[in-house]
Amino acid sequence: MKLGDKKSTEEVFAKYKPTHVIHLAAMVGGLFHNMAHNLDFLRKNLHMNDNVLQTAHETDVVKVVSCLSTCIFPDKTTYPIDETMIHNGPPHPSNYGYSYAKRLIDIANRGYYEQHGRIYTSVIPCNVFGRHDNFHPKASHVVPGLMRKLYDLIKDGNTEDKTFVVLGSGKPLRQFIYSKDLAKLMIWVLREYSSVEPIILSVDESQEVTISQVAETLVAAFDFKGKIVYDTSAADGQYKKTASNAKLRSYLPDFQFTPFEKAIKETVDWYKTNYDLAR
Ligand code: GDP
Repeated sequence: MKLGDKKSTEEVFAKYKPTHVIHLAAMVGGLFHNMAHNLDFLRKNLHMNDNVLQTAHETDVVKVVSCLSTCIFPDKTTYPIDETMIHNGPPHPSNYGYSYAKRLIDIANRGYYEQHGRIYTSVIPCNVFGRHDNFHPKASHVVPGLMRKLYDLIKDGNTEDKTFVVLGSGKPLRQFIYSKDLAKLMIWVLREYSSVEPIILSVDESQEVTISQVAETLVAAFDFKGKIVYDTSAADGQYKKTASNAKLRSYLPDFQFTPFEKAIKETVDWYKTNYDLAR
């Protein structure tokens, strides 16, 4: 992995000579992948983040926007969560490796500002989905994971006897952002947001949905004829991690997020057409 090694990171920067960097590289995965590989998530992300930020500083990169996630917030907290609460307590035990590595980006950004005057900042998106996602059955997040499961279930016949198994109780709540919307917001941060303090990039609190609503929206998008069953022996993960986008709204009060059903439908249509290419 190139960015896991300082020398190869320097080669990447020497090749592209960036003045501005959006740092998205990370070892990422859904709940079940995190639970099985916490140490790998910690180490790989620590190395990549240190290499990217330090090389950016050494090569005089003007701005870096790094990506955190709402799943790194304290497990025991009050809701909604906001940007000031990242370091207020331990993260959920299912993904502590990833969470601590990501939290340290915020600490590093503070250091690069205090010691070197750098405006290296971070964004905190909620659960992202869209085209070109990772649809791997074991490593994926819930939307692509369930999308693949449904597709595989009906590709040889969409009949009433089929059972769509959703992991967990279906009750946990999540905010989902469409990758196209997030891309627009990240570009805005790169151009206009000039603070080192993190900013949450999430849909409004009123747009939070349950995992069952996700499953039902996917069932509708695929026009699945069978039935949904919840496997309650599987983990639910965090019950909720409701994040406030008040800071974002203070800058962009009129930003329109793509409605969830429309974004899901576009992603499903992309997946059906690109099944052979998809990860
Ligand atoms: P999280 O938001 O960081 O917890 O990550 P996920 O995107 O993996 O969402 C996890 C939630 O979706 C949990 O409540 C799981 O129980 C539920 N879930 C249901 N089916 C699946 C599945 O097939 N894959 C994943 N990753 N999660 C699922």
